[in-house]
Amino acid sequence: SSNQFKSGERSVIEIDGRRIGGEHFSMIAGPCTVESRDQVLTTADAVAAAGASMFRGGAYKPRSSPYSFQGLGQEGLHLLAEAKERTGLPIVTELMDARDVEPILEVADVIQVGARNMQNYPLLAEIGRTGRPVLIKRGLSSTLEELLMAAEYVLKEGNPNVMLCERGIRTFETAYRFTLDIMAIPMLKELSHLPVIVDPSHAPGRRDMVLPLSLAAAAAGADGIIVEVHPDPEQAICDGPQQIYADDFAAYLEQVERAAAVA
Ligand code: PEP
Ligand code: MN
Repeated sequence: SSNQFKSGERSVIEIDGRRIGGEHFSMIAGPCTVESRDQVLTTADAVAAAGASMFRGGAYKPRSSPYSFQGLGQEGLHLLAEAKERTGLPIVTELMDARDVEPILEVADVIQVGARNMQNYPLLAEIGRTGRPVLIKRGLSSTLEELLMAAEYVLKEGNPNVMLCERGIRTFETAYRFTLDIMAIPMLKELSHLPVIVDPSHAPGRRDMVLPLSLAAAAAGADGIIVEVHPDPEQAICDGPQQIYADDFAAYLEQVERAAAVA
C-alpha cells in the first residue's frame, strides 16, 4: 500500500534501465495518437535524439465522440514496437479495455490508464496483476483522494510500479479546456511516495501554453512530464493544436530540464 513507506522515502520505478522518481526527472514525449509509420518514426527519432526518457503514443484512443478516429489498434502497437526497436526508448501507451491487455503487454513498458478510465476498477486490478508499470491519469473531476485510491487498486494486486499523472481538471473556468492543478504536485508528494508526472498538453489544448505549464510543473517538483509532440501538428488526426513541433522539442526539453534542475 502507498502508506507503508516512511515519510520522505520516494519510490523509484525502474523501466528498461531508466529510473522514474526520486532524484530523476523524466521526459515522456510523443504524439497523441499513432497515425502512420512515417509520423511515429519521425517523432521517435526526434525525441530520442533530444534525450527524452520514454516514447508515448496511443493505439487505442478514448475519443469523446464515437464517430472520431478511434486509433489504429494492433497496427498502431506494431508501429510503436518498431519505434522502440529503432530508438531504444521504452513505450508508454494506453490500455482502455482489459480485453486488449495481451497485445498491450507485448509492447508497453508503461501502461497508461486514461483520465476517463481512472475509476475503471476491474481494469486497474487487471493491470495490477500484470505487474507492468502503470501511469494513472487523474480523472476529469476526480479528487486527489480518488486518484490515490485508483492507485491502491493496482498496488493491492502486488504491483508497486505506479505513477500518478495530473492532466488538468474540470473547474468553472471556460477560458481553457481544463485547469492544470499545480498544487496537486506537492500535495500528492506529501500524501504518497509514488512518482508524480504532469501532462501539460491536455489542460490548455494549445501549444503556446505547453512550455509555461511544463516549467511550472518542473519548478513545483514534478518527477516528470508527459508531453505531446508531432512532426506536423496541422495535419494531426487528433489534438493537433496542442502538440508541439518535433523540430522544437530539443529546445523545449533543454528549458524544462533547467527548471527541473533548480527545483
Ligand atoms: C492522452 O494522453 O492522449 C489522453 C487521451 O489523455 P487523457 O486521458 O488525460 O485525456
Ligand atoms: Mn491527446
